[in-house]
Amino acid sequence: MDEVAIIGGGPAGLRVMQILQCAGIQGHLYEQKRSVGRKLLVAGKSGLNLTNDAEIVEFLSNYKGKGLPKVLWERIYKAFNNTTLREWARELGQETFVSSGKKVFPNDMKAAPLLRALVQDIKGKGGEFFVKHSLRNIEPSDNGYDLTFSSEEGEIRHHYSAVVLAFGGGSWSSTGSDGEWVPLLESMNIKISPLEAANCGWEVNWDGEFLSKHEGKPLKNLLCSAGEESIEGELVITKYGLEGGPIYRLGHALRQQEKPALQLDFKSMFSTQELMKKVESVRKNLALELMQRWRLTDSVVDLLKCYHSELFQKIKVNGGDLQLLAKKLKNFSLPLEKPRPLNEAISSAGGVAWIELDENLMLKKYPDLYACGEMLDWEAPTGGFLLQGCFSSASWVGNAIKRKRSL
Ligand SMILES: Cc1cc2nc3c(=O)[nH]c(=O)nc-3n(C[C@H](O)[C@H](O)[C@H](O)COP(=O)(O)OP(=O)(O)OC[C@H]3O[C@@H](n4cnc5c(N)ncnc54)[C@H](O)[C@@H]3O)c2cc1C
Repeated sequence: MDEVAIIGGGPAGLRVMQILQCAGIQGHLYEQKRSVGRKLLVAGKSGLNLTNDAEIVEFLSNYKGKGLPKVLWERIYKAFNNTTLREWARELGQETFVSSGKKVFPNDMKAAPLLRALVQDIKGKGGEFFVKHSLRNIEPSDNGYDLTFSSEEGEIRHHYSAVVLAFGGGSWSSTGSDGEWVPLLESMNIKISPLEAANCGWEVNWDGEFLSKHEGKPLKNLLCSAGEESIEGELVITKYGLEGGPIYRLGHALRQQEKPALQLDFKSMFSTQELMKKVESVRKNLALELMQRWRLTDSVVDLLKCYHSELFQKIKVNGGDLQLLAKKLKNFSLPLEKPRPLNEAISSAGGVAWIELDENLMLKKYPDLYACGEMLDWEAPTGGFLLQGCFSSASWVGNAIKRKRSL
C-alpha cells in the first residue's frame, strides 16, 4: 500500500526511482515502451552531453520558461548541480570529461553504459519496473490515487499513496515521449503551456534558384541575433530552411516574435566604416571587387541579391550605395516561416505551468502527485542543460518524497 508509482522511464523517472530505492521506499516504475531510457539512448548517438561546466550564473541564465520561478529553480539546481551530476555518474562507473563549449560527456561519449548501470543499481535495491504499461487515467481516491494503465493484459488499475509524473516532452514520439499526457492533465484542471518545438531548425521560404545552388552549404562566422540575444556560429542552408546551434539557441526569442526574423551580421569582426575603408579605392569591376575585399562567399552574395536585388542593380548601373550594402551585410534581416515540427525537435518548450506546482514540485491541486523533467514548463539550449534540468528536478522530487516519508 505504501509504494510510490513513477510514470515514465526517462532520466527523470529513473533518477526519482533511484533516490526512493536508496531511501528504502518501494518504487514501481511504469514505462509505456518495451524498455526504459529510449530518448536517452537517442541523445547518446551523437555523444551524450550530460551537463555543462559553466559557473552557476552562466549556467542558470540558459533556462527560460513562462513564469519559471528563478529562485526555486536555482535551489533545485544547487541541490543537484553539474558537479553533483558528474560525481553521480562516476559512482555509476562513468567518468566524464569537459569538452569545447564547457560541454561535459562520459569518457566513452555513450548513453548505454550509464543507463545500464542506473537500471542495475535500481533493480539491485529492489525497484520494480513495469514496461509496456501506459498510464491512461489518474483518479484521486482515499489516501492517494487510483491509476489506470493500458497493458498487454488489458486495462489494469492500481492504487498508490504517491505518484511521480515524468512523462517527458513531446518530441521524438517514437521514443515514447508523445505528449499524450497533456489532455489527461488538462482534464484534471491542470494548466499546461502548449508544447512547442525547441532546439530545432526553422523554415525559410527560399527562392528556388538560391536553394538549387546553395542547399547544404554553411554560412560561417555569423553573429545571429533575435530580440536581445546574439550568438556567434554557423548555420547550414537546408531544403526547408536553416539548421545550426545559433538558431537552436535563439528559438525562445524567435518564438516570441509575431513575424519571426533572424538578424545576421556576416562581418561581425568589422564595423561598417572598416568595411567601407576596404573598398574605397575600388574603381572598376565593383561587384567582383566587393566579394574579394569583403571576403564574401557565393551563398552570402546570393542571399543579399535575393532579398536586396535593387542594391546590386544600382551597383551595376552607377556604383550604387556601397554604404547601404555594407550596412546590410552587418544587419541582414532574414524572415522565418516557423520552427520545424515538434516531433523533429531535440526538446520541447512548454509543459506543466509553474503556478500549478508548489516548492516541492507537487501539484497544488493534487497532494502527493509530483511532476519533474522535461514535462515542466522550462526550456534550455543544447549543451548539457536539458539533462541537467531533468536530473536536478527529479532529484528534488525524490528528496521531497523522502523527507515527507521520514516525518
Ligand atoms: C536527438 C536528441 C539528442 C539529445 N541530446 C541531448 C544531449 O546531448 N544532452 C542533453 O542534455 N539533452 C539531450 N536531449 C534531450 C534529453 O534527451 C531530454 O531532455 C531528456 O531525455 C528528457 O528526460 P525526461 O525523463 O524528462 O523525459 P524522456 O526521456 O522523454 O522520458 C519520458 C518517458 O516517459 C514515458 N511515457 C510517456 N507517457 C507515458 C505514459 N502515459 N505512460 C507510461 N510511460 C509514459 C516515455 O515513453 C518516455 O520513456 C536530446 C534529445 C534528442 C531527441
